[in-house]
Amino acid sequence: MTIDDVAVGSLRRRLNGPLLRPSDAGFEAATRLWNGMIDKTPALVVAATGTADVVAAVEFARTHDLPLSVRGGGHNIAGGALADGGLTIDMSGLRGIYVDPVARTATVQAGCRLGEVDRETQRHGLATPLGFVSETGVAGLTLGGGIGYLTRRFGWTVDNLLDVEIVTADGRVRRAGRDEHAELFWAVRGAGANLGVVTTFTYRLHEVGPAVYGGMIAWPLDRADEILRAYRAIGAEAPRELAVWLVLLRAPAAPFVPEQWHGEPVCAMSVCYSGDLARVDEVLAPIRALGDPVVNLLAEQPYTQLQSYMDATEPSGAHYYWKTEYLAELSDDLLSTVRGAFAECPIPQGQLGFLHLGGAIDDHDGDDGAVGNRDARFALGIKGQWDPEEPDADAFRQWIRDAWKRLQPFSTGGNYINFQTDDEDDERIRATYGANYGRLAEVKTTYDPDNVFRSNRNICPRRTS
Ligand SMILES: Cc1cc2nc3c(=O)[nH]c(=O)nc-3n(C[C@H](O)[C@H](O)[C@H](O)COP(=O)(O)OP(=O)(O)OC[C@H]3O[C@@H](n4cnc5c(N)ncnc54)[C@H](O)[C@@H]3O)c2cc1C
Repeated sequence: MTIDDVAVGSLRRRLNGPLLRPSDAGFEAATRLWNGMIDKTPALVVAATGTADVVAAVEFARTHDLPLSVRGGGHNIAGGALADGGLTIDMSGLRGIYVDPVARTATVQAGCRLGEVDRETQRHGLATPLGFVSETGVAGLTLGGGIGYLTRRFGWTVDNLLDVEIVTADGRVRRAGRDEHAELFWAVRGAGANLGVVTTFTYRLHEVGPAVYGGMIAWPLDRADEILRAYRAIGAEAPRELAVWLVLLRAPAAPFVPEQWHGEPVCAMSVCYSGDLARVDEVLAPIRALGDPVVNLLAEQPYTQLQSYMDATEPSGAHYYWKTEYLAELSDDLLSTVRGAFAECPIPQGQLGFLHLGGAIDDHDGDDGAVGNRDARFALGIKGQWDPEEPDADAFRQWIRDAWKRLQPFSTGGNYINFQTDDEDDERIRATYGANYGRLAEVKTTYDPDNVFRSNRNICPRRTS
């Protein structure tokens, strides 16, 4: 697609921030995504410095019928942040965070990463539930729902969203909250990438830390049956302040893993206990009772440290592929299928595991926000990462798809939109939103009837004529 130089010049004059083309310095950095498997090159990048730049970019894309995409942290596995041959609005220059410790709120600009938000809120001993890899963009995570160690205490990230400023497809700047553009706000809470460009998010904060207890603990894989059963009991009985992820993987060659375990299969738990530290021995007793771990990094530590200790395990630029489902329970059948599937995993950096949910997500009605899935007690993940030159990449992807097929029968039927890859079909998007899908399509039709925002897991507007 060629874009008229005159038109580009007129856009440039409307912008405060730079307008980048592929030969410009900064273009490569602005279009580099976390998942190195994504190969898309936009024609233009608007490096937004504020809401006015976003409005100009949305109007330009709409007028010139250019595919439009929005880049937050660039971490989405499906690569929705870029549209081939289109216009990308890069929000990464917008990094302001304003904490009101009295009102217990944080207003966050859309280019922020999770670690930056945790750092500012923790200065006041406060936090909102966000993810656990600090470079992930707060925008994409929030707009899809948002899961973290604090989800069991305080709900999905969007359960803690108070309002947003959003630029909709008509170029208008709106504040959306429960009392203003309430339907738009309802849809933003789980399907936000479909509704506009969010420029700021305001979150409710809670007292957390600053010291919490947790980290990683791992046992040899030959104890997996015992550890998995214990995990089921721990997951069912845990107080909301305790979240335990469980993963079957090969131990990384990291300094904290004894050398003889490098590359060996293990069963690991990643633990966050954010409650009263005087109770930590009692709360963690079932984990400690398992005894004889090969790695034990459980310790009292700053919440911000626990939120970032896994960062190095997910380097930017590697190739990533995964499949996920929500689960209501960990049945014997499921656990033995997981165990069997992992035994056949050909990927050196392959993983099968569970995120621990339940708790506060179920305190809300199923239609409180588009996000839904309030029956999820765990999220199952089948993951692989490899080098860009990996010769067995096709076989690796196939193993993930095959294991997924074996495990899908255990799903609630729901799944997390933010974990979908770009080869998943519309049925998966409908499954994500379940009973909320119809209402979501209505809101999409009202605010984006021409589907300007379609570089995402797309909700199609209904035909209006
Ligand atoms: C290493 C890693 C760890 C993760 N951990 C977690 C976790 O703990 N919890 C969790 O819930 N998720 C987690 N995720 C998933 C994560 O939530 C999604 O990948 C999310 O989309 C990332 O947001 P981003 O801003 O970085 O993404 P981007 O790739 O920049 O954007 C993702 C999507 O959102 C849209 N978008 C981005 N910004 C805006 C905006 N301002 N307005 C409108 N649309 C926008 C984009 O167009 C795109 O479709 C993780 C992902 C990775 C790669």
